[in-house]
Amino acid sequence: MSVPKHISHPVLQRLRRLVVGKPKPSSFSTVRARSAARGETRSLVASIDAILPQTQCTQCGYQGCKPYAEAIVRGEANINQCPPGGDAGIHALASLLQRPYIPLNPQHGIQKPKQVAVIDEQTCIGCTLCIQACPVDAILGASKQMHTVIADECTGCELCLAPCPVDCISMHSPPVTAISRWRYPEFALHAPAGPLDVQAANIARERHAFRLQRQAREQEERARKLAQRRAASATHATTQDPAAEQAALAKKAAIAAAMARVQAQKAATAPRNTEVVSPAVAAEIAAIEARRAQMKKTDDSAE
Ligand code: SF4
Ligand code: SF4
Ligand code: SF4
Repeated sequence: MSVPKHISHPVLQRLRRLVVGKPKPSSFSTVRARSAARGETRSLVASIDAILPQTQCTQCGYQGCKPYAEAIVRGEANINQCPPGGDAGIHALASLLQRPYIPLNPQHGIQKPKQVAVIDEQTCIGCTLCIQACPVDAILGASKQMHTVIADECTGCELCLAPCPVDCISMHSPPVTAISRWRYPEFALHAPAGPLDVQAANIARERHAFRLQRQAREQEERARKLAQRRAASATHATTQDPAAEQAALAKKAAIAAAMARVQAQKAATAPRNTEVVSPAVAAEIAAIEARRAQMKKTDDSAE
């Protein structure tokens, strides 16, 4: 693990000493040191994540607030990539990490007042694409049915706007009930964070974590079912061949037996020793054959 030199937070300085410090510790000490380093890394990620707004909007370039926090600790991301957090967020991160303040990087967007998504229910076609995009499961609905946003849970991330095929989602100022919980970013970091702000961010974090767990479970379930189907079709293929082969053999044998019966019937009814009989007997046999043919013709026409 490499610890970036430009980060001066005491936890990171300890991490750096643990990772690159000398003299080289014994193997047992190394394991303990690495374990301690991992614990401190987790703790620092949690501290950074606690500052981030939890809208899970991905504007920072990462798949949510926690991945961004992890990227900061790894030294991959700077502290000015979160538009919802704005200046206040950058100051808080700079203070935590003992780094100088730098202004918000406009490449990641601009800070905007808090808004929530509203669905025009008359236009919604019930395609569920917005549900799949919402990082905190704030949209209710089912396939081919009208969808609606739970305003109190909406973080204003805008991730549901782009996927909607009929453009029936728009952003609006939050209703009073939502404002009561969602005061971020206008107040949350500028003023001492009140319990409601903390609660809102915590709820959004939990909802996002729950969604990730659910998606992982669903993916596992899909993979398990696919493996089961593949195993079943493989078993079917291996057991199917002998059965099909046996059926084909049985069919062949039945046809052969039927043909043998026909041949036997023909042989039984065919006149025998016709070559060695006298002309008179041959003539009698011929007459019998003619009568038999005539009788068969009469039978056939009667049917
Ligand atoms: S609020 Fe958005 S931009 Fe800020 S850290 Fe979270 S996901 Fe990234
Ligand atoms: S409803 Fe839309 S804007 Fe609100 S949290 Fe979900 S995806 Fe984001
Ligand atoms: S994406 Fe748009 S049309 Fe589809 S369910 Fe959501 S709101 Fe309705």
